[in-house]
Amino acid sequence: MKEQLLLLVELQECDSQLVKIAGKKKTLPEKMEKLDEAFRTFQNETERNKRKYDEAKARHGECENKIKKINEGIVKTKERLLEVKNNKEYQAMLKENETAEVTRSDVETEILAILDELEKLSVLVKQDQATLNEHKQKYEGERRLIEADLDSVDADFISWEQKRAELQGKTPADLLAKYEKIKKSNNGIGVISVWKAVCNGCHMNIPPQLYNELQKTSELISCPNCHRIMYFQNMDKSA
Ligand SMILES: [Zn+2]
Repeated sequence: MKEQLLLLVELQECDSQLVKIAGKKKTLPEKMEKLDEAFRTFQNETERNKRKYDEAKARHGECENKIKKINEGIVKTKERLLEVKNNKEYQAMLKENETAEVTRSDVETEILAILDELEKLSVLVKQDQATLNEHKQKYEGERRLIEADLDSVDADFISWEQKRAELQGKTPADLLAKYEKIKKSNNGIGVISVWKAVCNGCHMNIPPQLYNELQKTSELISCPNCHRIMYFQNMDKSA
């Protein structure tokens, strides 16, 4: 390839890489944020049974406290029974203890139901924990990949920038200005390959005579449609 054109092709490669890497610098943190968010949601959903379990455990504790208080009340009433003066008072205290015993029985029934619930929930919690662990491993693996990408992005950017600076130093000023101008008006692509008479930038056909000339001449030829500087590239060989 002609020396001038080769410089432009290499410059284009640098510029395209720099745009690609800058894009990654922006999208990778977004990708990471989405991944974190998805995991947090999954974790929150998977821990629903755990929250039910904790809530049942708290109710169980409350019931145990109720029983303790009822028992203390019954003991006190029994002590007071020894000091009663009349039958009416005596009957009232017996009634008080009967009511307390009925309440205690209700609470005990509630405790049995809660214990049953806790047993069922603990099975589910174990299953959820296993699912979450599996999911967590996958999530952490994906996160490490993004982190590694992010680490390499900065180093890549610097190395392409250095390469570009070297090429720019070798490129004649008028040629560089021409390339920059065409690139600016063509979405960052100023130099484009042509194969089988088709411009890879605008995908239009190149007239046969121009296509022939492109393969022979040392002049810089622009695409008649998109005005990008063209170079012939045999895609069969380069593939
Ligand atoms: Zn074109």
